[in-house]
Amino acid sequence: TELPADPVHENTRRQVMQACFSFVAPKSTSKPSIIHTSNELAKDLGLTEDDLKSEEFKNIFSGNSVLPGTNPYAMCYGGHQFGNWAGQLGDGRAINLFEVTHNNKKWALQLKGAGETPYSRTADGLAVLRSSIREYLCSEAMYHLRVPTTRALSLALTGDQVLRDVLYNGNPEYEKGAVVCRVAPTFLRFGNFEIFSARQDKKNLKTLSDYTIKHFFPHIKEGTKEAYLQFFREVTNNTLDMIIHWQRVGFVHGVMNTDNMSILGLTIDYGPYGWLEGYEEGWTPNTTDRQYKRYRYGNQINIGLWNLYQLANALFPLIEDTKALEDILMEYRNNYSTKYLSMMKSKIGLFKSDENDSELLGRLEDNLQLTETDMTIFFRNISRIPKDSPTNEDFLDPVMDAFYAGEEVKGDILEKWKLWFTDYKNRLQKESISDRQRAEKMNDVNPKYVLRNYMAQLAIDDADKGGYSLLDEFFQLLKNPYQEQTQAEKWFAKRPEWARHKVGCSM
Ligand code: AMP
Ligand code: MG
Ligand code: MG
Repeated sequence: TELPADPVHENTRRQVMQACFSFVAPKSTSKPSIIHTSNELAKDLGLTEDDLKSEEFKNIFSGNSVLPGTNPYAMCYGGHQFGNWAGQLGDGRAINLFEVTHNNKKWALQLKGAGETPYSRTADGLAVLRSSIREYLCSEAMYHLRVPTTRALSLALTGDQVLRDVLYNGNPEYEKGAVVCRVAPTFLRFGNFEIFSARQDKKNLKTLSDYTIKHFFPHIKEGTKEAYLQFFREVTNNTLDMIIHWQRVGFVHGVMNTDNMSILGLTIDYGPYGWLEGYEEGWTPNTTDRQYKRYRYGNQINIGLWNLYQLANALFPLIEDTKALEDILMEYRNNYSTKYLSMMKSKIGLFKSDENDSELLGRLEDNLQLTETDMTIFFRNISRIPKDSPTNEDFLDPVMDAFYAGEEVKGDILEKWKLWFTDYKNRLQKESISDRQRAEKMNDVNPKYVLRNYMAQLAIDDADKGGYSLLDEFFQLLKNPYQEQTQAEKWFAKRPEWARHKVGCSM
């Protein structure tokens, strides 16, 4: 996912000083075609269905023409990658096209994979169909799961071949090139602020911070130390809320470097992300992070805090008050426990408070890891358990489908589950709502359908051969992830054995 360290060329990378961005033109491609569009998002932007089918749309959103009167640019940012300061990074394969205001909402539109920029370093600025499908499907799916995220408007093929891998026999392996149009109020990242701080460029740090507050936190009156502190507090809260949502749906980002942390607390940069199949705190989809597992599921909240420390350092020159910044970081720690607890409680239908709730949930998380247990199926189906049912011999039936090897659930393991369900049903007695009302609330936070890793892979395999029906099927399915969709029951199922450990790659 990261570009390989390259000591020879490292110093040849162009440093762009005292600037937030560089103007750049998207690259022309040989045979552009649009293979999918998000029609709801298009509507939010003021585009009609006819617009989406036009030549002009195809040309602009594949990078082949520039809308008159606009000036595309790539942003300069830095970042901490895997815990180390990496210096200048920047939009190496993203080009901002323009901004649109529609229905009082402001959107920035950006192409990913439209060619080199001054920040591309030694890479080509291109994207392949595989990684583009993963970003396109997942970012829209996240939106419909109500997880703060950047959106995706369109997926285009460029008609060109992109070199990504050299095979063991030395032959180059080409893949289809693609361009995704991403959409968000802004694509600013923690790294945009860090770069100025690292260069001791306080003037531009202030300009950028004032700009960000003015446009994206307009309720804060910019320019004072208090304003920057309030800005930092809101970024902190938004970041925490986003990560709590990730934990709720079982999303693992995979590369939580500070250059991939949105200043608005949006999920951004869908690279080697993955979805938990078996619930496992130690799991990461990122094959380059398998040793330390820095970005594993169970560590995302800690990493969010670590990244916020870097942002605090970056904003320090404008605030110069260590204690005030540390207090806000401390709030993250305190809020984390309460927010995480209430999120997890909602997943099992507990809404009143009880002093033993943390313990009950802790034991659930342990039990889920006794044998491989599908997170999505388990939480979706637990709502089917009536609070007055006896914990007799078939007590596990409603969640049996969640166990990858059901026959392993016996002996001690079975006893632990029995104990847990007995305690859980006792605890449910404290809730005043009916089984039906509770199930409804639970089904609204426990999705039935998520973009399982192998589903994305199936859509990719088809698309590589020129078939886009599965891509469209998943796109439509994931618009209503909390709703029962009887025709789609096969996607509410454990990952097939061939797909074990199949995760995508970002490049
Ligand atoms: P990522 O891990 O995708 O967040 O990428 C880290 C940095 O590498 C960012 O600055 C990207 O813009 C840059 N980058 C990743 N892939 C490419 C590519 N194919 N061409 C140019 N720059 C890239
Ligand atoms: Mg990135
Ligand atoms: Mg990336």
